[in-house]
Amino acid sequence: MKQVSDNCFAVLIEKNRVCDANSGLINLAGGVVIDTQSDLPHARQMIELFSKVWPAMPRRVINTHEDADHVWGNQLFEGAEIIAHRSVPERMKQVAEPKEGQKMLQGVGHLLTRLVLKALHPGIVAAGQQLLEDYNFDGIELVLPTTLFDARYELDLDGTEVHLIYVGACHQVGDTIVHVPKERVVFAGDVLFRQCTPMGWTGTYEKWFQCLDLIIELDPEVIVPGHGPLCGIEGAMEMKAYLEYVRDESKQCFDNGLPSLEAAKRIEFGPYGEWRAPARLYMNVERAYREFRNEPPDEPWDTAETFDAIYQVARAKGIEVEY
Ligand SMILES: [Zn+2]
Repeated sequence: MKQVSDNCFAVLIEKNRVCDANSGLINLAGGVVIDTQSDLPHARQMIELFSKVWPAMPRRVINTHEDADHVWGNQLFEGAEIIAHRSVPERMKQVAEPKEGQKMLQGVGHLLTRLVLKALHPGIVAAGQQLLEDYNFDGIELVLPTTLFDARYELDLDGTEVHLIYVGACHQVGDTIVHVPKERVVFAGDVLFRQCTPMGWTGTYEKWFQCLDLIIELDPEVIVPGHGPLCGIEGAMEMKAYLEYVRDESKQCFDNGLPSLEAAKRIEFGPYGEWRAPARLYMNVERAYREFRNEPPDEPWDTAETFDAIYQVARAKGIEVEY
């Protein structure tokens, strides 16, 4: 846990691989927790860390978007008001249904199933084994947000304003950033990945650029990213440079008729090879391709296919796969 301003705190998951999502706390007016971790043990640990500074369980929770790794601890905040963008409850039912994740980890944990799975989907097995090192999805139940907003929602916490600004769809449909102007803090959710390769699911590059520009304009002193260590606006600038680089490189490959997987194998990681999970590049290439093909940004992803493609990119680059 780190204190980032007078009343803002962050719990940062340092491994910075998939599911290692950060949480925030604004310790005013009964407390506001931002994002609730990927499983119950991590959520409990987050609660324990934050409870060193809060007087009682917080009255409010904000979910920055619908992804599992930001909402699967919601059930531990009994009686709290859960706030999110209007799209989030329906989207959670589509993309954060716990049974899928539970089944995947059970399959990977079971030797025979794992062997069969490995022949079909080496990416699912590799991702599942990585997740089993840290996560246990048992007992998770979806608890949906109940206070919903459209473009903007403001809280007044003992005289400190908190602005929830809807910025989606750039990484996911419900993308929301939380700005505390008085303390110059932005909780960015997964609009910002720091020192790890972004995974964008639903949305457009244009929206993502606009959102990163907005964060830079807000001029925060500290940004708490959805994944990765704390940063200032240089974090938003680097993410933007990464996305611009990938989109430009993808365009060249697209114009040369290469399929997206081949493009991802061929595009150099460059300085971003230092980030965690560089082979997740595939997803950013595929997203660019969807745009070049004028496909709708909410085209669903086949998880097995996506994890396999990331696996293949890592192999082609001669690196250990990481998700
Ligand atoms: Zn996330």
